[in-house]
Order: sequence, then structure tokens, then C-alpha cells
Amino acid sequence: MGRIAIIQTSPAIEDATGKMDGTAASPTEIIKVDDRTVACDGGDGALGHPRVFLYIDRNSVLCPYCSRLYVLNPGAGHARGH
Ligand SMILES: [Zn+2]
Repeated sequence: MGRIAIIQTSPAIEDATGKMDGTAASPTEIIKVDDRTVACDGGDGALGHPRVFLYIDRNSVLCPYCSRLYVLNPGAGHARGH
């Protein structure tokens, strides 16, 4: 596992319910990762959900459950030592 930094972008989560269509305009959090494959379970609290695995195809992927945006760290993704 690489380092994971969680950056809070908006402390107020207003309409987390009812938008499960993956077209969220504003992610609840932006999480920088070093690996193209990330596992998300929503963390603790109201946004928790069953763990899903997301694949970062280009440089970011949005979790359809909790609208967290996973962003690949610059320079990562070349699978060094993989
Ligand atoms: Zn999630």
C-alpha cells in the first residue's frame, strides 16, 4: 500500500443521498493515490458502503457510491517494480 493523503474539499455534505448515477459534479473528497487500483469503502460515517475496487484509467476515478475522487499522483501509474 502506498501513502494515501486525504484532502477535505467540502466539510458540508448535503445531498449524498439520491445521486448514485455517477455524474456527480463535485466530489466529496479528493484522495491522491499512488496506485491505479484503489479500494473504497466510503470510510467511516454516513458515507460508508461495501468495499469496491476502482481502476484509474487516465488520472482520476470517481467512486459512484460516495463521490470521492481518487487522483493518481503525478509520476505514479507506471507500475514500477510491478
Ligand atoms: Zn466510495
